[in-house]
Amino acid sequence: MARQENRTKVRQSLQTRLAIGYAAIIAALLILLNTYPLITTQNLMFRSQQTALYNQAALVINSLTTADGLTPETVEQAIAPLEDLEVRRMLVTDEAGLVLYDTGEPSGVGKYALTREVVSALRGNDAFASEYREGVFSSRAASPVMTRNTVVGAVCLYEDDSSQGVLLGELQHNLRLVSLVVCLAVLILFAGFSRALARRVNHLLSGIRRVREGEYTHRISLEGQDELGQLADEFNQLTGRIQTTEEARRRFVSDAAHELKTPLASIRLLTDSILQDENIDRDTALEFVGDIGDATDRLIRISQELLTLNRLDEGRTAVREPVEVNGEVEKICRLLAPLAEEAQVTLETDLGADCVVVCSREDVDQILRNLMENAIKYNLPRGSVTVTTARTEDRIRLTVADTGVGIPREEMDRIFERFYRVDKARSRAAGGTGLGLSIVRDSVRHYGGQISVAPREEQGTVFTVELPAWKEENP
Ligand code: ADP
Repeated sequence: MARQENRTKVRQSLQTRLAIGYAAIIAALLILLNTYPLITTQNLMFRSQQTALYNQAALVINSLTTADGLTPETVEQAIAPLEDLEVRRMLVTDEAGLVLYDTGEPSGVGKYALTREVVSALRGNDAFASEYREGVFSSRAASPVMTRNTVVGAVCLYEDDSSQGVLLGELQHNLRLVSLVVCLAVLILFAGFSRALARRVNHLLSGIRRVREGEYTHRISLEGQDELGQLADEFNQLTGRIQTTEEARRRFVSDAAHELKTPLASIRLLTDSILQDENIDRDTALEFVGDIGDATDRLIRISQELLTLNRLDEGRTAVREPVEVNGEVEKICRLLAPLAEEAQVTLETDLGADCVVVCSREDVDQILRNLMENAIKYNLPRGSVTVTTARTEDRIRLTVADTGVGIPREEMDRIFERFYRVDKARSRAAGGTGLGLSIVRDSVRHYGGQISVAPREEQGTVFTVELPAWKEENP
């Protein structure tokens, strides 16, 4: 329940964040769309009004400068020919701002018109002001009337323009319409996108949950190659690895239990036989006790090998030191001589110079012992085992070749698996546990080396181990 809530929270927060992000971008775009074109158009319109009004003021000033002083009469006379002026109101003042001429209703003649524009014009500067309100551009422009470089009055023109205002209004309306359509489109797109995203995230989460609950065969199928698709692919690969590890773990536990069961069952059977048979003779009892000893040895060997594997799994190493491989080969040869003799197998060596590795001596011995013991165990009477060592530039190569029964090619990859045996009966009869080669492989890898197996040309098998060589200057 709590997990369900968590999932919903995650999705909600993802959706919320996306929604906020989208809304912010769209709002910014819409504000830009609804302001920038309008302001630009407005400015253009103001500028065209300004030019038109200044041009007309220039005409008026032109005719006034020919007048003989500025009085209501002279102004009236001078302006009379300018009938085609297209302004709402024209106002002419003297140098003190007193209105001499005014076409406005009611007329301001005889009053002072000290508006900001007129004052500015009386100071000798052109002035313009404009505003846009309720679809109408209202503009006014004032210019000084100069005679011999002296301001003798001012002309102020007023104009209202609703046609451009209508245009601007339409533009505004259209922009609002476009904004609305964009908003709706984004809303619909976002809803669709967010639902699709939520569906895919849900699918991914439910897949992850199934795997977490132990369904390692489950694979998430998510269409698309976007990040979520890639996440699903990666997760599937991870699940594949978990599945393999889990299967190996189960197989290992079942194999280990099976391996332990056999000697334990023998011990049980043998002790029961001794205990239940009151008349058992001493020799038989001794024989049974000997068998119990053998089964116990087997149990001890299995547990020792399992502990070694566990140590290697955990990456723990016994003390490392430079180990002269040839000396160890000779030592193991001496140790295995009785076994080789019993199996009628000859041990041969061909040892190269300078074969020193940095490993735990115990581990080198174990690698050599397992490989050489196998080469003897799975050999044929009058066969041979040849151990060679050689140094390449930075590696020591060790090969153990035998003339034995060989390993079928299709099994070669599997012989390093724990408890895997090609010939179970033969392995058991020879006291094998099926763990020897796993220990060898893990050990070799632990020291940064490699191991490979190949059939020997005529007959038998060759195991090749390569380990990093010890370098004096870089111990
Ligand atoms: P085991 O204790 O059974 O010898 P290993 O892990 O050492 O276990 O070897 C696994 C299996 O690989 C053996 O059971 C055997 O079938 C096969 N094998 C190993 N070495 C050789 C060899 N030199 N020749 C033939 N078969 C071998």
